[in-house]
Amino acid sequence: MSSRSTRIYKFGGASVKSAEGVKNIAAIVRESTDNLVVVVSAMGKTTNALEILLSAYMGGSEERWQLFANLRSFHLDIAKALMCSSDTLLNERLEYLFGQMHALLSSPPANGYDYCYDQLVCYGELLSTAIVSAYLSRVGVDNQWIDVRTCIQSDTTYREAMVDFVTSGYHCKKSFTFNPQQIYLTQGFIAGTPVGTTTTLGREGSDYTAAILANLLDAQDVTIWKDVDGVLNADPRIFPNTQKLDFVSFQEAIELAYCGAQIIHPKTIKPLQNKLIPLYVKSFLNPSASGTKILHSDIAIKLPPILVLKQKQVLLSMSPRDFSFIIEDSLSKIFALLYKHRVKVNIVQSSAISFTVCVDDEPQYLPAAIEDLKRDFVVRYNSNLELLTVRHYTTEVLNEHIGNRTVYLQQRTRSTGRFVMDVKER
Ligand code: ASP
Ligand code: MG
Repeated sequence: MSSRSTRIYKFGGASVKSAEGVKNIAAIVRESTDNLVVVVSAMGKTTNALEILLSAYMGGSEERWQLFANLRSFHLDIAKALMCSSDTLLNERLEYLFGQMHALLSSPPANGYDYCYDQLVCYGELLSTAIVSAYLSRVGVDNQWIDVRTCIQSDTTYREAMVDFVTSGYHCKKSFTFNPQQIYLTQGFIAGTPVGTTTTLGREGSDYTAAILANLLDAQDVTIWKDVDGVLNADPRIFPNTQKLDFVSFQEAIELAYCGAQIIHPKTIKPLQNKLIPLYVKSFLNPSASGTKILHSDIAIKLPPILVLKQKQVLLSMSPRDFSFIIEDSLSKIFALLYKHRVKVNIVQSSAISFTVCVDDEPQYLPAAIEDLKRDFVVRYNSNLELLTVRHYTTEVLNEHIGNRTVYLQQRTRSTGRFVMDVKER
């Protein structure tokens, strides 16, 4: 390894949604004098488009060819706008990737939804990094493209892969030598398995990739470049008068991510905290502004009320059919079933013979979980709810946001209030 310090930059979908975005990345990366690993997500809404393509493919619909053609032209148009269309290496790489996608879409789906998801949806990141890498080279920002699947190794839990840090550390150190290369460019969100298949790390998982690489390469820091000024105290698309937080502790950040703050993927904090690597969240529209620094802090950092809204929630109540107490023998059974079906539990509440959980309404997983639970329990549920978490609440903020809305379930500690309510028109 060279003596320069290593930094990780992560650019999400919004920063690469157009040719202008890619040009902006070049401007930011060019300024760096350190060793840099640049992690890039799929362009714009490509992952959503790939999910729609996947449904068409799984359902055997011929519409998949049109959806595939749209994705292809979206990427080729951006390459063209970046004046990379005469770049033979890029063209070959893109044609190779499109060829693989075509072959996949031509063969019948096998091994289930989650497996197919990862084999198809990974192309978003593979295509975007191919284009960004070629553009950076074209404008003189020397970089090496790395297929992250050869470095980050995971198990075969498709769509939510568990990373093997030991094996990945070994491969990462071999690939990212920084000798003499100073800038590497790679994909977020995806990983490889020992059996040669592709996995994904969960939606918005590129932040997690950046944190994994930082941990394994002992980086000095990580910067997540976004289209907002930093971590705000609420989502500005939902709440008015938001304010930027200058400093946030790792502990606060993990709590926020857990309650559903979209600012960073929930798994991102642990690899950073474990090695005390600070995380900056900054605006790619205003790169010299300070953004937010997420760091280890022994002293409490004073924060304003922070609002986190989780939508598409379902409240599930379960009672044993024979009136037995819920705690004694049922809880482990309930959790084993929810875990098996990958249902994410956001709140739990129990009484003598009933147990209630607030969970994400994930159509791939929840209906099967409910069917399974019904074998042992009477299951009732309310859907189309939202979960509002208010960290560091004040009475005024609770009055403003809860007021006299119907609350189905609430939990309060001294620092945090959580409320499950009907959806509010905003
Ligand atoms: N492209 C993936 C997604 O949209 C991963 C990411 O953006 O972090 O979920
Ligand atoms: Mg994204």
